[in-house]
Amino acid sequence: MRLSTPAWILRRIRFSESSLILTLYSLDYGRMSAMAKGALRPGSPFSGSLEVFSAIEACFSRREGRELDTLTEACVAEPSAPLRSDPLVFAFASLWSEWAMNMLQGGEPSQPAFHLLGDGFRLLGSGAPGWPVICSGVEKLLRIAGLRLEADDCTRCGRPALESTSWNHVSGGIVCASCAGPGDLTLAPGLVLFLRRSQKAPLEAVSRTRLWKGGFRQCHDLLRDFAEAHVQGRLRFRSLAVLEDMQNAR
Ligand SMILES: [Zn+2]
Repeated sequence: MRLSTPAWILRRIRFSESSLILTLYSLDYGRMSAMAKGALRPGSPFSGSLEVFSAIEACFSRREGRELDTLTEACVAEPSAPLRSDPLVFAFASLWSEWAMNMLQGGEPSQPAFHLLGDGFRLLGSGAPGWPVICSGVEKLLRIAGLRLEADDCTRCGRPALESTSWNHVSGGIVCASCAGPGDLTLAPGLVLFLRRSQKAPLEAVSRTRLWKGGFRQCHDLLRDFAEAHVQGRLRFRSLAVLEDMQNAR
């Protein structure tokens, strides 16, 4: 079956001397894996069009029962050069991509997920500060994946909990003062405000938010712990260690 779709390249792995296996998130087919045969050969028609974090128009063939599609043609729709020219920006784009791979596992397509991915890559490529884009982007991504962080109403009694900073990952978010117990976390008030803002505003508006030094790292840890409380197993982020090394060296 010959098919085509716009898609973001989330990961590329060298498969043999000359071929690549791509992880894509596509508008029409959701997450896909596709083999690009001979892509690394000089003069390949794929040459220069399969860079990671770029958007392509992908033509591919799919066979029933096979997990791996075969890419037959690719045209670059949005190049990823701005994301690949600065190592720090590249590391943030990698983290964004890893979140997408962790949270968008199934083959069901999601238009909001496809567009959110693009918004994140474009903002990172345009020089927006990395951490707010990642943190608000992940909050939105979790919501699309069915894991909304409840920051307004108590997750135990349902009453408004705007003054509270008690939190429980398993119950789904904020816990009011009367329901809070010993097993609950206490968040910095700024984190709760940031989550509320992220839920009500587009990514671009939230990307200019500032928190205290280390605040966004705390926020990222919170999002990660929340996601891990609701999915099977630990989430893997290889780019996080790279980012930490880079930021410690600055
Ligand atoms: Zn309550």
